[in-house]
Amino acid sequence: MGLKLDLLLIGVLVVMAGLGFSIAELQKFEHSAKADGSLSLLVVGDWGRKGNYNQSLVARQMGKIGEDLDIDFVISTGDNFYDDGLKSIDDVAFQESFTNIYTANSLQTPWYSVLGNHDYRGNVLAQLDPALQKIDSRWICLRSFILDAEVVDFFFVDTNPFEIDYWIESKHHYDWRDVAPRKNYIFNLLKDLDSALKESTANWKFVVGHHTMRSVSEHGDTEELLELLLPVLNENEVDLYINGHDHCLQHISSNDSPIQFITSGAGSKAWRDVFVPNSDKLRFFYDGQGFMSMQITETIVIFAFYDVHGNVLYKSYLNKQLRAFE
Ligand SMILES: [Zn+2]
Repeated sequence: MGLKLDLLLIGVLVVMAGLGFSIAELQKFEHSAKADGSLSLLVVGDWGRKGNYNQSLVARQMGKIGEDLDIDFVISTGDNFYDDGLKSIDDVAFQESFTNIYTANSLQTPWYSVLGNHDYRGNVLAQLDPALQKIDSRWICLRSFILDAEVVDFFFVDTNPFEIDYWIESKHHYDWRDVAPRKNYIFNLLKDLDSALKESTANWKFVVGHHTMRSVSEHGDTEELLELLLPVLNENEVDLYINGHDHCLQHISSNDSPIQFITSGAGSKAWRDVFVPNSDKLRFFYDGQGFMSMQITETIVIFAFYDVHGNVLYKSYLNKQLRAFE
């Protein structure tokens, strides 16, 4: 499959180069770091279930930890609204699963969000519509974009179109408006991402997408991302790839590059009871609900996973000089 994909993309590249195809840039947002240059944030994924499956408990603990760490913003790794995204900009699921759930003072910050496969089963254009910000100004959701947070550049990537199965399965409908055809979309996205990564002068480069690259849980590795996206991240010395999709918390270190794979997809329904190791180094795996915090300075990233009671399940440190975990 990998070779076929590579050949497909090379073919597209040749055709597009021949047509003089112009490339659009990824939209860029800016978020100031604290006065001392540091940044604190939370990461949660796979959450929108109107408070059910412990979503409300996770939200409450996010509020407390968010307060303790004085967070600057929240990142959502997608599958924001179950089971089938939003129906329209008037869909009350937006309030029932987001506004009315994450009510703590510390969570009244921007929520930078990507889309998951369940979001694609609804009206994607509604979920991306800036009109939602009139209902809740925290909501910032685009397909792919950049967040310049001074000490770190976040590159948010829409990973849904990579999954070939979504394009061919008949069980669910996916909203590919403004995306299809797949090969053009992926070509443009990877080109834009590569350019943006090369232009970045931030100390840290983190990439956020919904789908797993490396995972020991239900969905496992995503072969299309390993084939197409990972080489771009490795070439540009991305430090972390952060995803949801698998309803768990995990940290996996690559055996052949400095990149670290982090899953925070435990915002509501979890406990899949699946464990399938891969060949990379598994550092932590929790098959249950929770979320992640990150505290970032120029030299150190501290990240921690929490359960529904706010207990710290795991804490790790990435040192920029050593390019290694302690
Ligand atoms: Zn998903």
